[in-house]
Amino acid sequence: MGSKKDGLVKLLNGIKFLEKRYEVMRIVDPTKNKVLSYNDDGVVETDLSCHHFWAKDKACDNCVSMKAYKENDVFIKLEYCNDKVYMATAIPVVIKDITVVVELLKDVTRNMIVVNQEDGEVEIDVHDIINNTNKLLLKDHLTGVFNRRYIDERLQVDMINNTINKETLSLIMADIDFFKKVNDTYGHLAGDYILKEVAKILDGCIRSGKDWVARYGGEEFLVCLPNTKKDIATKIAERMRTKIQDKDFKYEGQNINITTSFGVYSIVSDNDSNLESLINFADKNLYKAKQSGRNQVISSD
Ligand code: GH3
Ligand code: MG
Ligand code: MG
Repeated sequence: MGSKKDGLVKLLNGIKFLEKRYEVMRIVDPTKNKVLSYNDDGVVETDLSCHHFWAKDKACDNCVSMKAYKENDVFIKLEYCNDKVYMATAIPVVIKDITVVVELLKDVTRNMIVVNQEDGEVEIDVHDIINNTNKLLLKDHLTGVFNRRYIDERLQVDMINNTINKETLSLIMADIDFFKKVNDTYGHLAGDYILKEVAKILDGCIRSGKDWVARYGGEEFLVCLPNTKKDIATKIAERMRTKIQDKDFKYEGQNINITTSFGVYSIVSDNDSNLESLINFADKNLYKAKQSGRNQVISSD
């Protein structure tokens, strides 16, 4: 019975010495965002979501345990919560054939105060620093949607969840048509303005929390829709397409109209797929949409 349980007990005993040094020591399953425990029946998922500690109602965008799980390496981050700064260390541990993550959370608030020799202690707004750093790391500075780094981090997580939950994940790749001409005709600042507005439109068409929009590059965006079948994803892309096509973008007294092409690709849970091939398939459909005359949605699975 419970070889995984034995492993977990061994692990807990093995790291007991760490308890004194940390405010919290816990074991999590980052693929489910759950804290793990065990009873006589073996390893059990508790009702506790790991992000509850951080007073969040959804998984952290900068989840360090998922990173540790994925890359099988130790990762550390700083996080602000309830007026305290915590250093979170995530250590991946393989028990039998299952990887869990040991999280060590340490209150480092005192360590974060900058001491100035002449004036004594200087208060710094650590909350702002952490929030801004996380924002800088994961958000595109022009459009405010997620950036390429976020795609690399997050898509992998969503793909793992997709496989575990046996769901369908859909990706939408969007590329503004003839955008070079917009820049050439109305100027680069008008182009920047349109990029921001298009990002807002795309963001307004998705479910907040689970879905996300990222700027893939230039005038190209990637939309990720976990647990969404192809038909629904195609409808969402169609809604995005119509909204952009119908919008009069107004920049310095000028009315600008644009269109966008979309490639949709849906994947049913599949252990073999990787991030690059998934994006590639969506990109191929986008290319077909461009070849077929632009301002349209092409989808496949
Ligand atoms: P297609 O319909 O084939 O996609 O044509 P296109 O003109 O949109 O594609 P192309 O790749 O030839 O040009 C993309 C343009 O997007 C060129 C580049 O100047 C512009 N662009 C990329 N990033 C930015 C940006 O941050 N701001 C502005 N204003 N323009 C950008
Ligand atoms: Mg384009
Ligand atoms: Mg392009």
